[in-house]
Amino acid sequence: MILKDFNELRSFLQTPRNIVIVGHKNPDGDAMGSTLGLYHYLKMKGHQPQVLVPNEYPNFLRWLPGSKHLYLFDKQNSQAKRAIKRSEIIFLLDFNTLHRVGSDMQNTLEEYPNDFALIDHHLQPDEFPYMYSDPNMCSTSEMVYHFMELMEDVNLVDKNIATCLYTGIMTDTGSFRFRSTTSTTHRVIADLIDKGAENDKIHSNVYDSNSYGRLQLLGQALKNLKAIPEYKTAYITISDEEKAENNYKKGDTEGIVNYALSLSGIVMAAIFIEDRDQGIVKISFRSKGSFSVNAFARNHFNGGGHENAAGGRSDVPLDETVTKFISLLPQYEKELISSYEN
Ligand code: 5GP
Ligand code: MN
Repeated sequence: MILKDFNELRSFLQTPRNIVIVGHKNPDGDAMGSTLGLYHYLKMKGHQPQVLVPNEYPNFLRWLPGSKHLYLFDKQNSQAKRAIKRSEIIFLLDFNTLHRVGSDMQNTLEEYPNDFALIDHHLQPDEFPYMYSDPNMCSTSEMVYHFMELMEDVNLVDKNIATCLYTGIMTDTGSFRFRSTTSTTHRVIADLIDKGAENDKIHSNVYDSNSYGRLQLLGQALKNLKAIPEYKTAYITISDEEKAENNYKKGDTEGIVNYALSLSGIVMAAIFIEDRDQGIVKISFRSKGSFSVNAFARNHFNGGGHENAAGGRSDVPLDETVTKFISLLPQYEKELISSYEN
């Protein structure tokens, strides 16, 4: 765990400030929950916070309190840039290096004259003036709760903050089932429920909001599932044509990789999602036990993340990307076989 210059940050925040809070590109439940949770907290403290995310977030997060006030850097570019210009500090949440916001926003942030404060749980964070980094944390949303504790403000958690943070913790832990979920996580969750998070509603808002197209796409993805039992590996592909046939909307592929990991005996799962518009294949990796998909994604697919959940990308066509993936497996045979008893 790194906690850098926290006391200085605390005194800086004694005065009302113009603050920008940034989440990563293709924001997920934790990026949205942590940025909006911090937004409600800072607002309550008398600051003027503004949340910015690089691009659109999924529909199943549209109900989150405060989401209407955020700016998308790509679509509301002038408002977003004005907010950055006005701000005295920028909080970076749920990502570890500036390139995770995409090149346009990265270029703007690299020219930022004031300080950054990082709150994040990804491995290998870059250096920033203020840092609260802890890869053992299940989610950045849990870290925002602990940040409020460090600020001696945990009594300020209200229904809005509780709702946002609950959502981020729930989504990043796969509903409290991943290895990163600790007894502390459950204690935080219990407090968030006490402070007004309506757990049944949040689960339903996030998980029972499938469109017909999304379920059809899931059906196609499951048909495409391939297992390679000798390497305890399974993977799924989704092509541009399959997206089009199933009325694909942003966020529809979220979570599908977990079906590959749910196959009995599997230790590593991957999903390869074609995006010919951007000229890339977006990849998600998941693992059980000691096999590090962070290292795998960093070493071979231009990505990273956490030991058991990471992302990456490939610039070669879908079929070549899959061929490359399969060709890498033999060198990891030992690690894959011994990663997890299942
Ligand atoms: P997903 O597969 O859901 O896109 O990402 C899984 C986890 O890895 C998330 O926590 C996400 O933030 C992280 N991640 C995805 N892509 C990258 C990447 O390119 N670099 C790093 N450091 N983390 C990533
Ligand atoms: Mn996260």
